[in-house]
Amino acid sequence: MKTLKSISYILKGHPQQVGDGFIGQSMIPSQRFQDFSPFLLLDHHGPMQVKPSPIPKGVDEHPHRGIETVTAVFEGALQHRDSAGNKGTIFAGDVQWMSAASGLVHEEKHELNFSRQGGILDFVQLWVNLPAAHKMKKPRYQELASAQIPLIQLNEATQLKVIAGELAGLKGPALTYTPVLLAELTISDETQFELQLPEGFNVAIHVAQGEVLLNNTEKAVAKSIAKLSQQGQWIEISAKKGTRFLVLGGEPINEPIVSHGPFVMNTQAEIRQTVQDYQSGKMGFLEPVTY
Ligand code: MN
Repeated sequence: MKTLKSISYILKGHPQQVGDGFIGQSMIPSQRFQDFSPFLLLDHHGPMQVKPSPIPKGVDEHPHRGIETVTAVFEGALQHRDSAGNKGTIFAGDVQWMSAASGLVHEEKHELNFSRQGGILDFVQLWVNLPAAHKMKKPRYQELASAQIPLIQLNEATQLKVIAGELAGLKGPALTYTPVLLAELTISDETQFELQLPEGFNVAIHVAQGEVLLNNTEKAVAKSIAKLSQQGQWIEISAKKGTRFLVLGGEPINEPIVSHGPFVMNTQAEIRQTVQDYQSGKMGFLEPVTY
């Protein structure tokens, strides 16, 4: 017997600006982030028009500890570098899965050529919590180019890409510390289908653009997020032409959370230590660059 997941609630995003180059919506409200565990944050930046600039805008050097940041670009391009020695570009269709773990500093900017030319930028960033056992691991950097991310047609109008975990028999390439599902669906024409999702996971659907009807009853428009029940296995989806949505899910991490900006630990004492480690330079530095 097919058991449906129910729709717990649907929320609209809150306007959010990060640094001088990323304007968008914060999709996971801080009062309810426990409902989304292991996800702590989902920011959808764009679609925004980037004006040509010789110096790339974005977010200057800042630290992280205790989490992973996942950046998926739909349109435009970003560049990244960090104090663990990683640097890279994230073009449309690419995903960067960065495990800050014990800590690093990084900067996140518009990609240099994209910045010079200007254009449309549209991307999401997720923060995935790490359990206590992995918070102090060495940083890990996964650059998942579009060509490495498997995709299938679920039906004539529906393309499925799986970045992490497994959906509809398709497995994503990202390595994760706890069971996590992240998939992107793009809809080329009005269509209907069902998805089987893990029971016991916190699962949500972020509508990036377009519109979906869930279980034939609940409408979720662009820039809204639908939280599904942990119980049940299936969700019925009707989607309009031009829709893009993410399915995010994961096994909840049932541990206390104490966060301070970009640091997410389990206790106040760990946060104090983290601030001290950052201030004393233990997370490293970035070399200055001139553009
Ligand atoms: Mn960051």
